[in-house]
Amino acid sequence: MFTLTNLTKIYEGMYRADSLPCPRCQGVGTIEIEGRQVFMYHQGAPVQEVLYNFEPEDRERFMTGFCNKCWSIMMEDDYEQSDLNPLNWLSQDTEEDL
Ligand SMILES: [Zn+2]
Repeated sequence: MFTLTNLTKIYEGMYRADSLPCPRCQGVGTIEIEGRQVFMYHQGAPVQEVLYNFEPEDRERFMTGFCNKCWSIMMEDDYEQSDLNPLNWLSQDTEEDL
């Protein structure tokens, strides 16, 4: 599922659409798409097909609202708390494994 908001016609066959506001910084991204992409969107086509000419980060924006910047910050936060981060290895309770 993804959402195109404020879908407006720029000129014949060309439309402008906003993303959801970023949950973290409230920023909104705007893209321009063709009429057939709007049609596909209304048909319920998946984001990869409708926004096929956009980068995965841009598509992410229309699915979750997160902008590139906040998305990467979130990924870093996840990493800091994950088992992949060696800094977390020492603080983990390993008694069960021994
Ligand atoms: Zn953001």
